[in-house]
Amino acid sequence: MDKFQYDVVVIGAGGAGLRAAIEARLAGKRVAIISKSLFGKAHTVMAEGGAAAAMGNVNSNDSWMVHYRDTMRGGKFLNNFRMAELHAKESPSRIWELETYGALFDRTKDGRISQRNFGGHEYPRLAHVGDRTGLELIRTLQQKIVSLQQEDKTKYGDYESQIRVFAECTITELLLSAEGAIAGAFGYYRESGEFVLFETAAVVIATGGVGKSYKVTSNSWEYTGDGHAIALRAGAKLINMEFLQFHPTGMVWPPSVKGILVTESVRGDGGVLKNSEGKRFMFEYVPDVFRKQYAETEAEADRWYTDPDNNRRPPELLPRDEVARAINSEVKAGRGTKAGGVYLDIASRLPAEQIRKRLPSMYHQFKELADVDITKQPMEVGPTCHYVMGGIEVDPDSAAGGVPGLFAAGECSGGMHGSNRLGGNSLSDLLVFGKRAGEHAAQYVSELTTRPKAAQSDVEAATQAALAPLSHEGGDNPYALQHELQEIMGDLVGIIRRESELAAAIKKLGELRERVRNVSATGGRRYNPGWHLALDLRNMLLVSECTALAALERKESRGGHTREDYPKMDPQWRQVNLVCGIDDDGNVTLTHQPVPTMRPDLLDLFDRSELSKYMTEEELSA
Ligand code: FAD
Repeated sequence: MDKFQYDVVVIGAGGAGLRAAIEARLAGKRVAIISKSLFGKAHTVMAEGGAAAAMGNVNSNDSWMVHYRDTMRGGKFLNNFRMAELHAKESPSRIWELETYGALFDRTKDGRISQRNFGGHEYPRLAHVGDRTGLELIRTLQQKIVSLQQEDKTKYGDYESQIRVFAECTITELLLSAEGAIAGAFGYYRESGEFVLFETAAVVIATGGVGKSYKVTSNSWEYTGDGHAIALRAGAKLINMEFLQFHPTGMVWPPSVKGILVTESVRGDGGVLKNSEGKRFMFEYVPDVFRKQYAETEAEADRWYTDPDNNRRPPELLPRDEVARAINSEVKAGRGTKAGGVYLDIASRLPAEQIRKRLPSMYHQFKELADVDITKQPMEVGPTCHYVMGGIEVDPDSAAGGVPGLFAAGECSGGMHGSNRLGGNSLSDLLVFGKRAGEHAAQYVSELTTRPKAAQSDVEAATQAALAPLSHEGGDNPYALQHELQEIMGDLVGIIRRESELAAAIKKLGELRERVRNVSATGGRRYNPGWHLALDLRNMLLVSECTALAALERKESRGGHTREDYPKMDPQWRQVNLVCGIDDDGNVTLTHQPVPTMRPDLLDLFDRSELSKYMTEEELSA
């Protein structure tokens, strides 16, 4: 087994992981970056629309306060207020800093970073590079890492002396010292199947999302909730796991590409949603809490694109949960397309040349995958599982995850987005909290007097657990099990939920537990995807159980959690975070915890009449 010692081990090489690694290295620490997939292949690279930051470049009325308000509204006031505050205040600096690393965002006519409209954002706020923003973000962060490695070569004679990247290396378990502090991370190289032990006092988990537990998803194969699960097994807690974002616009046809994302920028740039009767239906679906901010007629909505100061926003730009539910209702009412979606029309709204310029990836995606020319024809779209709002419970300022030495940032952490994330807020979230996680992990290590040590027996236990699927005979095939899990989650814990179905899901997941424990993988250890999936399944199941249990417990509808049997938001539930842990037998526990109370100066940013839509009378009078 390979063995390495590092000050800080960053698990995940998306935006959050890379930004954390840069900060820990700048603080003088030796850092390992570990990535399950190839270096550069992460969800961050797939991000299309942009990164939200109140720079006020396109509309000078924008400010961190407006961004804060939008984020809290989008999350239906369940967000950790301090995270939302830090995010709104710090994201402009994180974007400008990226330009100092070499990023080149699209420009306004006067040469500033251009910003585009997106759902739930009052002003144009998303810094972008066409519809390939994530690619530029990852390219830039990687370039910064290479430049730091070049400095290290000059100083220490070795490029990898201070930062080393371990690509195609999967972490399966965290290791603790006898005192319960982080002491290491255990994993395997995907290519050789050999094991590897990282001895370290600090781990930053930045492993992204959980979407592969659903059959229709925009997420790719790596997103199996590994970070959520290894944190849970190490003693951390997960919050808000019932809140999953179903992006309203995924491709629905042809079946082989179902779920692939159609960026919200299409609507931000003027695209409208129509049902099979040709009706622009979103006007029927503006909920009371948003009524004042959204246009009531098509004429007003259309005027907004050129005169946003004197008109209200089109309802196609409501937060994602609202749009996804509206599409779902149209399809259910028989007004969907044959393939079970609705139409998204940009062709009749913008000249072909502008569509190709502003949405180049979408143009190619539809042309190549569906033989649809989006400059001439509407796209067919429907909801797809996209983002998990729930995640590892962290301290808002330090990103510390409740276990000494454990830090988390990016999509795998919870709290920032409340019950629903606004588009664009993930890329800025991962920059803001990635930096903070790296900084505080480094500080934690600096303050240690002795290095925590893992017991050899724990390393052996992690080895045995990883080898188990290869030695089981007669167990289920991992692909068949994953398919069953995806069916359960998609059919019973999906976009619209009911008590009986959630209870059935929990029962079925319980039955799967034994089968996942005994799953069999054929073949050896060298590049064996079946074995890798068998190991991922443990994580997917654990995280799915958290989602299903919390979804059954929360008896209201809010953001990314819609209960048909409890269709309204309930102010009592707004005060509750549902927290998942695991007991000594590995069973998921669920407890209620109060949502932190917002500071008075932040409450003052809202009208009392708006707050009364979310809060209880007692909260308001207090
Ligand atoms: P990721 O970028 O997902 O990276 C996770 C990393 O962890 C990867 O390197 C992975 O290999 C690694 N990993 C996972 N498990 C393990 C393990 N066990 N061991 C080692 N490594 C592991 N958000 C926006 O704000 N704006 C957008 O325009 C936008 N567009 C999007 C478009 C698409 C198609 C998708 C899918 C998402 C989009 N999002 C967007 C969401 C956003 O991209 C993600 O939420 C964000 O990039 C997550 O970043 P991250 O750093 O937390 O994780």
